[in-house]
Amino acid sequence: MTIEELIVYGKKYTNSAHAKMLLASFLSVNPLELLTMLDKEVPTNTINIYKKSLEALKANRPIQYVIGHVNFYGSKFIVNENVLIPRFETEELVEYIKSYLITKKIKKPKILDLGCGSGVIGLSLKKFFEEAEVTLTDISNEALEVAKTNAKNLNLKVKFILSDWFSNIKEEKYDIIVSNPPYIETNEEIEEIVKNNEPHLALYGGIDGLDCYKKILKDINKYLKDSYLVAFEIDYLKGEKLKNIIENTIPNSKVINKKDLSNKDRMIFVEKNND
Ligand code: GLN
Repeated sequence: MTIEELIVYGKKYTNSAHAKMLLASFLSVNPLELLTMLDKEVPTNTINIYKKSLEALKANRPIQYVIGHVNFYGSKFIVNENVLIPRFETEELVEYIKSYLITKKIKKPKILDLGCGSGVIGLSLKKFFEEAEVTLTDISNEALEVAKTNAKNLNLKVKFILSDWFSNIKEEKYDIIVSNPPYIETNEEIEEIVKNNEPHLALYGGIDGLDCYKKILKDINKYLKDSYLVAFEIDYLKGEKLKNIIENTIPNSKVINKKDLSNKDRMIFVEKNND
């Protein structure tokens, strides 16, 4: 069958954008290139994978798991059911940290990524700041395996620790502590495709969605240098509440709520500078 025939075939299972994304991914071209080669014959094994993947999409599996990777901040990251699918908003968290390190001219930052999942945050930072000393942690061994594979594929040397927040972290001081912890409320209604596929361990943050922040904040002070940046991704409705909690737990710091590109309160930064 040709590419064009396979796209038409795919539309019986999914929308044409997803059909093209699948084919493009399995043929290692980008979806726009695909349109310049519509009459090309596709090898049988690729057709078989494509057809199986269409079934998976029809069964409501997220396309990122079906393809097996995502693009995040310019790099390709493997993902599977053991890790949260990285979201675009999280790229903005990375971007802010990057600007902070550049502005402050911190050449060899020590960075801790708590609850790293696939490793997108810590590894993206390491890619940009080669000299940074980056540690990635997660409570899930399976997630850490995914993050390790990603580090290997991207040729990045970082440290991995299996840890329930700070439980296994030696008392060291960091310039940056970053986390996108689970923050969905236990009883919150969320999209079926998310609820049925992504790891609940990575999604749910207790009755008020703030359990993980509270656990992190309880211990965070002893892991921070004199000057530091703490960066959290947050539920857009929790900005003010978290700001209050942080002001009470990390004294004398500047707490900044920041909106994402969709104009939603999506990040909180806690800064302290002794210069
Ligand atoms: N840090 C990872 C991400 O941002 C995983 C976050 C999580 O599992 N809650 O995608």
